Amino acid sequence: MTAGTIIIGAGQAGAETAFALRKLGYQKPIHIIGKEPSLPYQRPPLSKTFLKGEIAPERLLFKPAEIYQREKIRVLTKTEAAKILREKKTLRLKNGENLAYDHLVLATGGEARQLNIPGASLRGVHLLRKREDSESLREAAEKEGRIVIVGGGYIGLEVAASLKQKGCDVILLEAEPRLLSRVAAPEISAFFQEIHEAHGVEIRCGARLVSLEGRDHVEALRLDGGEIIKTPLALIGVGLCPNTGLAEEAGLLVADGITTDIHSRTSDPFIFAAGDCANHPSRIYRRRLRLESVQNAIAQAQSAAATICGCEKPYIEVPWFWSDQYDVKWQMAGLSEGYDGRVVRGEMGGRRFSVFYLRGGFLIAADAINSAADFMAARLAIAAGVFVDMGRLGDESCSVREALGI
Ligand SMILES: Cc1cc2nc3c(=O)[nH]c(=O)nc-3n(C[C@H](O)[C@H](O)[C@H](O)COP(=O)(O)OP(=O)(O)OC[C@H]3O[C@@H](n4cnc5c(N)ncnc54)[C@H](O)[C@@H]3O)c2cc1C
Repeated sequence: MTAGTIIIGAGQAGAETAFALRKLGYQKPIHIIGKEPSLPYQRPPLSKTFLKGEIAPERLLFKPAEIYQREKIRVLTKTEAAKILREKKTLRLKNGENLAYDHLVLATGGEARQLNIPGASLRGVHLLRKREDSESLREAAEKEGRIVIVGGGYIGLEVAASLKQKGCDVILLEAEPRLLSRVAAPEISAFFQEIHEAHGVEIRCGARLVSLEGRDHVEALRLDGGEIIKTPLALIGVGLCPNTGLAEEAGLLVADGITTDIHSRTSDPFIFAAGDCANHPSRIYRRRLRLESVQNAIAQAQSAAATICGCEKPYIEVPWFWSDQYDVKWQMAGLSEGYDGRVVRGEMGGRRFSVFYLRGGFLIAADAINSAADFMAARLAIAAGVFVDMGRLGDESCSVREALGI
């Protein structure tokens, strides 16, 4: 029996790689090495249903333990990979054990970004990435009944919605002049600000945090104009730092994530990377991308598994993402960065509308609010590289599919 495949990271990409390998008929040993105490689980509910206490921890698991046993996938939980010895094709674990590999997959995800300001590590200041983070945030919110959230991106807004629905007083601080400014058009920012305010969340844009204050527990937040906001509980939701340390130390190419080719191979042909830690070339956008989404983790993992099995499946997919806030389902197809034109269809007031983003006349992205059909049509049109007549797309007597010519 040969060494088989070792996957570092028991998350979305790690689990998907293992099951995709088995689905493709891979018969050699598969080990998943995971730092966390749990079998691989889903993270999206951590800011949504799980944070609200609506689902039990077991519901987060991708698969129960029996399925890993049946598929002969060995998951080592509470186990940290410490060093990759490339010349020996061996992985050293933190506990000193050495494991040989034929192929190695880095699916190490990332850590919630911490703010480098005074008071960031006071008690009562939370980050959200792991199941335990969501549990302790829920417990603290239930105890304190109020929270200040720093960061008006997806996670900050989802937590604001979930905790508001649990009856908490919520203030959300965003340093930029509008919410979601890096990822969405002003119409989308304005819509979410309105929805949150209608539910009683206090949104403060242009509010830059300079310190968190308190003896050992947070008592207040200080903004750059000197304003003090008292709070016993804060969440920092300002993005993610990819876990690239192992790769860097092993001398692999790393630049905003572990550099891969379109088949998820790193600069070492026996080592792959997938998920939030990986940076891949996008044929659709003609640039390198590091994405943080379920779709990306799954597609890259499948591509890595296919390459390992010798049946290459290039990763060429339109990125997509979703966010649930109150009764709003927001679905995003593609990436809007660099758009030079946009078309809004539908009624913002009716909570059912879409924003289509174009560059040079081609559709590059769409944000669909409670509008699954527009989302699906946009995904197809972006993949097909459709040149769009903006006037026709803006004409609501014409269906989206007709206007996009798909
Ligand atoms: C609160 C929250 C809400 C989200 N909501 C959405 C959503 O609505 N839609 C969406 O598409 N995406 C969402 N995401 C993003 C999505 O969950 C991630 O993109 C996805 O989990 C990435 O999977 P991954 O396997 O790359 O990383 P992870 O799921 O982070 O897994 C990486 C694992 O590797 C482990 N690890 C790291 N280093 C080592 C080491 N040296 N040794 C052993 N183990 C190691 C980590 O402990 C971790 O368990 C959300 C994320 C969060 C945190």
